[in-house]
Amino acid sequence: MSETFDYIIIGSGTAGSVIARRLSEEAASTICLLEAGGRDSNPFIHIPAGFMKTITDPSVNWLYETEPCAGTAGRRIQQPRGKTLGGSSSINGHVYNRGQRLDFDVWAQLGNRGWSYAEVLPYFKRSESRVGQGDGRFRGRDGPYVIEDLLWEHPLCDAFVQGATSLGIPHNHDYNGEQQEGVGFFQRSISRGVRQSTARCYLYPALGNRNLTVKTKALASHLILDGKRVKGVRFIQDGVDKAIYAN
Ligand SMILES: Cc1cc2nc3c(=O)[nH]c(=O)nc-3n(C[C@H](O)[C@H](O)[C@H](O)COP(=O)(O)OP(=O)(O)OC[C@H]3O[C@@H](n4cnc5c(N)ncnc54)[C@H](O)[C@@H]3O)c2cc1C
Repeated sequence: MSETFDYIIIGSGTAGSVIARRLSEEAASTICLLEAGGRDSNPFIHIPAGFMKTITDPSVNWLYETEPCAGTAGRRIQQPRGKTLGGSSSINGHVYNRGQRLDFDVWAQLGNRGWSYAEVLPYFKRSESRVGQGDGRFRGRDGPYVIEDLLWEHPLCDAFVQGATSLGIPHNHDYNGEQQEGVGFFQRSISRGVRQSTARCYLYPALGNRNLTVKTKALASHLILDGKRVKGVRFIQDGVDKAIYAN
C-alpha cells in the first residue's frame, strides 16, 4: 500500500527544510520530505570550522565537478553541494549576505510579481534573529535563523577596513541593512559556536509535528505524471524502488 501526503518536498536543503517547517505549521496538512542524504549527525557539520572537512566528504557532499572546457583551461572545477538534512546550509561557509535590492527590483520589473525587494523584505525579517547592530526596518529579531557578528576581529582585517575607508569607501556596519555598499565585517549564520543550518533552525523544531514525515537516504528518481500533472514521486531507499503520492 503506497503512502499519500498532501505535499511532497524533494530535498531537505536550505529551501526544502524551510518549506517543510512552514507547511507543517498547518496541522490539517500532511507533508513528506525526501532527502537523498542521511541525517546530519556528522559533528563537522555543526562545528563551524568543520566545513573544511565536509567540503571533501562524500557522505555529506555530492562532490560535483564541472566538465572540462576551454574557459577553465581544460580543468574540472569542484562544485560541492550538501547531501544531508539542511543540504548546502549544512556545509556552507556561514556568510549571511542578502541579495542586492536592485536584483530583486529588476526581477519584479521583468514581470515576476511579488519579487521586489520591498515585497521580499518581510520574509527576510521573519526568517532571522539578528544578534547585534541592525535597523528594525530591515532586520528581524525573532525568526528561527540566528545571525551573529564575528566574535573576534583580526588586526590585519581592521587595517584593511581602515585602508578602504581612507580611500573614500564608506564603512558599512550592516551590509544587510539599508545599504549594501561599503566595507565592513561579514555576518554569519552561527550561534554560540554552532552552525545554524536550516535543518537545525527550521526542521528540528518541526520534527515533533505528527503531520511531517522525513525520509532520509531517499533518492527521488522519477516524478509520476498524470497527463501534465505530477501525482507522485518514485524514490530509492535501501536499494528498494518505492513510490509516494501527493494530494
Ligand atoms: C561549500 C559551500 C559554501 C557556501 N558558502 C555560502 C556562504 O557562506 N553563504 C551563503 O549565503 N551561501 C553559501 N553557499 C551557497 C548556499 O549554501 C546555497 O546556495 C544554498 O544552500 C542552496 O539551497 P537550495 O535549497 O537551493 O539547495 P541545497 O541546500 O543544496 O539543498 C538541496 C537538497 O536536495 C537534496 N537532493 C538533491 N537531489 C535529490 C534527489 N534526487 N532526491 C532527494 N533529495 C535530493 C540534496 O541532498 C540537498 O539536501 C555555499 C555552498 C557551498 C556548497
